[in-house]
Amino acid sequence: MSSPFDAFITNDDEVVALLAQEWTRQTSTLQLIASENFASPAVMAATGSILTNKYAEGYPGRRYYGGNQVVDEIEDLARRRLTALFGADHANVQPHSGANANVAVYQALLAPGDTVLAMRLDQGGHLTHGSPVSITSKNWNFVSYGVTPRNDDPAAPGEMIDFDNVRDMALEHRPKMIVAGATAYARRIDPAPFREIADEVGALLMFDSAHVAGLIAGGSHPNPVPYADVVAFTTHKTLRGPRGGAILCREEHAKVIDMAVFPGQQGGPLEHAIAAKAVAFKEAAQPSFSTYTDQVVANARAFGEALSEEGFRMVSGGTENHMVLLDLREFDAELTGKVAQEVLDRAGVTTNRNTIPDDPRSAFITSGLRVGTAAETTAGLTEGDFAQVASLMARALRGREDESVIGQVRAEVAQICSSFNPYAAFTK
Ligand SMILES: *Cc1c(COP(=O)(O)O)cnc(C)c1O
Repeated sequence: MSSPFDAFITNDDEVVALLAQEWTRQTSTLQLIASENFASPAVMAATGSILTNKYAEGYPGRRYYGGNQVVDEIEDLARRRLTALFGADHANVQPHSGANANVAVYQALLAPGDTVLAMRLDQGGHLTHGSPVSITSKNWNFVSYGVTPRNDDPAAPGEMIDFDNVRDMALEHRPKMIVAGATAYARRIDPAPFREIADEVGALLMFDSAHVAGLIAGGSHPNPVPYADVVAFTTHKTLRGPRGGAILCREEHAKVIDMAVFPGQQGGPLEHAIAAKAVAFKEAAQPSFSTYTDQVVANARAFGEALSEEGFRMVSGGTENHMVLLDLREFDAELTGKVAQEVLDRAGVTTNRNTIPDDPRSAFITSGLRVGTAAETTAGLTEGDFAQVASLMARALRGREDESVIGQVRAEVAQICSSFNPYAAFTK
């Protein structure tokens, strides 16, 4: 089996063989990494297009190189589609990734050393929200807010963003910017209370919607654009486009944001990726995309409930987006996130280990596992299928010392994948 594009690589057997292996891996095992998806063949074709040849430093109408008549139209189309999709004043579609987009926002709107209030890394924040190993913590002074304490009463679940803590930290530290958004947080993030607190202390509000951009585009989650000064995100997670980033902002910030991306941080934009972003933005504007994102959320809810029935504890007691963050300790006190990820890999289920709030284990070992429904919902799985996946995961983890159990689960996983191949039409 091979992808529709491998046919173009006729002179490189080694790469063709590796692409075929990865094609088989992606379509015969379950992809449950919450930040991944299956881009459409149209998105992949644009990513592999002739635009990869073109240098286009600058912006449409203001390029430093000749020959950009067509490229200008491509980038303008991507910007128009993106501003329309989210109802924003201005879009920058050039960031090569979500991390680049975030750093460009900080560079545009902050002076070195300015204080930023963002979510704690070990409670769901991203590396670019001030991790000690990230350039962000070296250039700016990050302080953090966290989640409320664990509470097992289903009527008042804990482990949700603690807005009293956000406000107290904002009043104490008077940040120049507040960052909303997370990378491992299963609850809806309401932009309104963040805006209120930002206004109270005179801070800018940046919403990092890397994970949930697709859910917002589909109307399954609240749109932060009316509340935030800037919204930054990746285009390859729930938005289901090519690997990359984008920034939306109010008109008053447009010029500094554009300057920070180019020439502030990047050189020539990846116009092939920008064409693929344009394709993805059009796909996300279709009614069928809203059906997709509603199904992603419904699947996560069903998946979380089925995993709870197997004895896993959901952090925050539930999910309202595309992911479930599991605390493995209730299922098996000995089972670490690292071991669970490795066992599930052998059983054909791709996940990632993750810290959970107040995790007693290190970030390398962890007590948590993060799973998401965005990719396999694209492949066509619905609630009942995710319940089956939950029981397969539990079986593999309980029987992790027994290779025959792992083998049986792997065979059942392959059976599911053969019924739900996202690229079935292209599989020879
Ligand atoms: C994924 C993610 C990013 C970074 O995106 P990359 O494309 O991997 O650089 C930034 N912020 C959040 C909240 C994310 O989840």
